[in-house]
Amino acid sequence: MLEQKRHLETAVIRTQTPASGHREHASSIYMTSSFTFESAEHARALFAKEAEGQIYSRYGNPNVDEFIAKMCQLEGAETGVALASGMSAVFSALAGLLNSGDHVLASRSVFGSTHQILSRILPRWGISYSYAEIAQPETWEVLVRPETRLCIVETPSNPALDLIDLAWLGDFCRSHNLILVVDNVFATPILQNPISLGANIVMHSATKYIDGQGRGLGGVLVGDHALMQDLVFFTRHSGPSLSPFNAWMFSKSLETLPLRVERHCDNAEKLATCLEQHPQIAFVKYPHLPSHPQYELAKRQMRRGGGIVTFELEGGIDQGRRFLDALEMCSLTANLGDSRTIATHPASTTHSSLTEEERLAVGITPGLVRVSVGLEHPDDIVGDIVRALDMSG
Ligand SMILES: *Cc1c(COP(=O)(O)O)cnc(C)c1O
Repeated sequence: MLEQKRHLETAVIRTQTPASGHREHASSIYMTSSFTFESAEHARALFAKEAEGQIYSRYGNPNVDEFIAKMCQLEGAETGVALASGMSAVFSALAGLLNSGDHVLASRSVFGSTHQILSRILPRWGISYSYAEIAQPETWEVLVRPETRLCIVETPSNPALDLIDLAWLGDFCRSHNLILVVDNVFATPILQNPISLGANIVMHSATKYIDGQGRGLGGVLVGDHALMQDLVFFTRHSGPSLSPFNAWMFSKSLETLPLRVERHCDNAEKLATCLEQHPQIAFVKYPHLPSHPQYELAKRQMRRGGGIVTFELEGGIDQGRRFLDALEMCSLTANLGDSRTIATHPASTTHSSLTEEERLAVGITPGLVRVSVGLEHPDDIVGDIVRALDMSG
């Protein structure tokens, strides 16, 4: 692997597995479960870690290594592991670092499956958790217990786009000796680098902006070398490995991530600004709009506002459903971070299993719509959404 000290835009393009004897320009795909040994002695040396090289694709693979190397450069991390999905990354970070009796502090508005891991899977092994309100850091101190070992947050949160001050949280976790894990899916490494603000581990679902085209599942964890060694051990032996094909696809996608994220932000800013004027809309939430309650923090912490816009319809849950049915171009699907604009009504879909009270606690009001703004022409995106709004009113 080439060691790169170049601009990130260059590094995501030029970090590459060395070419094979065919002198191919794009990286080859190494769809092989294992790698051959030159001799009995070579096999012994590889297993004894006296020689460097691939052994078996659950341990490592050239495509997976290329993808990890790019992600480490993007997040300013030392070491990483790539996994079969974002959720296998979250699960591995928690199960690989926690012991029975440990306690986790989490922001309340974590991803739905992260909530299921915390509330229904880890308790079976004696690991407990508490939720803290993301936008009220002054309430966090009393939630820390002697056995609290790890803190996990998502900022901006899904779908309400609330933030937590990562520099503050980095200090807080250091002073309480907590491992800080940040789910950086919404911001992407282009807009926010939590490690530079004190996070120990950053998690990504590669399924979202990293692939950016809705083609496959993957996840990645990058961070401090010592913690990541434990996670390399945990994942090599428990086996939620990323397929070489998906690693190749994500690594190729990363070549355009800086460009794509800029355009996602351009389009999202245009949509958010335009929706603020629309009579059917009670409020718009977008981190880089001055109307966002944490605008100052968003400006300081995120290079741009990101690709997700949420808004509340005047007519609540019924209008939310009428709005989705009136869309012609935007897709109705549960993904985000795709080149195609996607609209979701969390109260009737992704968060319908919560009670209304639980939804309100994480900022999901009845008429809240989440739009993952894609890369189509902004006039077409705004046109489709405004027309559907007019029809739904
Ligand atoms: C999608 C998502 C995940 C889970 O990733 P998968 O690849 O679907 O397993 C975790 N966190 C956030 C914020 C997500 O959007």
